[in-house]
Amino acid sequence: MATYYFVSTNLDAMRVNAYVEPMDSKQYFFDMDPKVYKSWCKEHHLPTFTLSQVHEWVTKKNIIDVEQMTNISKKNQQDLREKLIINPFVSMNALPASDGSATKYIFELSPHVYIEAVAIQEKGYETLCISSQAGCPVDCKFCLTGVSGLKKNLTVSEIVAQLAIILSKGHHITHVVFMGMGEPLLNLKSVLPALDWLQSESAFNLSKRHITVSTSGYLAGIQQLIKKGIHLNLALSVGAANPAIRETIMPIEKRNPIMEVSQALSQYSKQHNRKLTLEYTLLKGVNDSLDCANQLANLAQFLNAKVNLINLNPHPKIPFEPISQSALMAFKDALLKHKIRTTVRYSKGQDVVAACGQLGESNLTN
Ligand code: SAH
Ligand code: SF4
Repeated sequence: MATYYFVSTNLDAMRVNAYVEPMDSKQYFFDMDPKVYKSWCKEHHLPTFTLSQVHEWVTKKNIIDVEQMTNISKKNQQDLREKLIINPFVSMNALPASDGSATKYIFELSPHVYIEAVAIQEKGYETLCISSQAGCPVDCKFCLTGVSGLKKNLTVSEIVAQLAIILSKGHHITHVVFMGMGEPLLNLKSVLPALDWLQSESAFNLSKRHITVSTSGYLAGIQQLIKKGIHLNLALSVGAANPAIRETIMPIEKRNPIMEVSQALSQYSKQHNRKLTLEYTLLKGVNDSLDCANQLANLAQFLNAKVNLINLNPHPKIPFEPISQSALMAFKDALLKHKIRTTVRYSKGQDVVAACGQLGESNLTN
């Protein structure tokens, strides 16, 4: 009979249990609560500290290959290889951008199901953009990930392993953004325990201030964060501050009106002092007017948020065009007139289709 282990998170006083059935009676390492390490080792006739050693190698030394864990005997390494899965993926492919600005990693979960993560080189630090779902059910009309629909909610292991594997390749990741494939608030069951792995001092120990979760505005998810008292840096993908325009490009608007989402976010940010960011993807002739800029400024003022402008990353499967550089600057100026902190995000890794909203292309072409 399969054994079930649970992952619990003490993330801001919240406890989440994610139950995962091990494949072929093997145990996924990141789906385990460190509290059960000793009993698992006993059950599998290993020295009781073996999994703590694995934990140390994986989270502090960025080694995920059991054979390289030199303080574990060859015999116990062999046992671990038979019983434990640290890397849950079937295969992995790395695509470095030609200018060295980003590397896209494509992970195969099961035959023909892929997710992607992108390591982005910034000035003086490196950000990892990770996926929370394979595909996405939200169907924003400007986003390539939405085109393929939802294939799977990722498990805790599948989320955390993206970071562990990329660290093991020598990247020095200091920042993580949940801006890859998927809507993280639709998979909080796995995202919250995964955040615990990322932030916990005894695990990857990334600064809470350096982790951002981006959402298209899923009301029930935000309300859950409020109810449970979970404090995250959130980014809201606005699309358009005007509900009528928003509905044409983000179908989520129908059941999650931006006015209600904003009220919820305002309540959320009053509970704590985390940063709120509004992400705004510019689509020529759709959400780029002066009126749109003014409405976005009102929203940013109401939420005391900063704005990130992203010009559309075009793709033949997306029925929109980016705006010109001068129109982008004019839009930015309109926000600055309202004293809104505004930055323009320039996409990196275009030649490996690693830019925002382009993740999932490998899915579509395979
Ligand atoms: N599902 C979450 C996180 C992933 S999307 C969300 O929607 O927030 C990450 C960001 O990429 C979002 O801000 C989204 O609006 C933006 N994006 C999607 N498609 C894009 C495209 N084609 N060009 C530029 N940005 C895009
Ligand atoms: Fe999903 Fe975000 Fe893409 Fe919308 S923008 S389809 S929510 S990944």
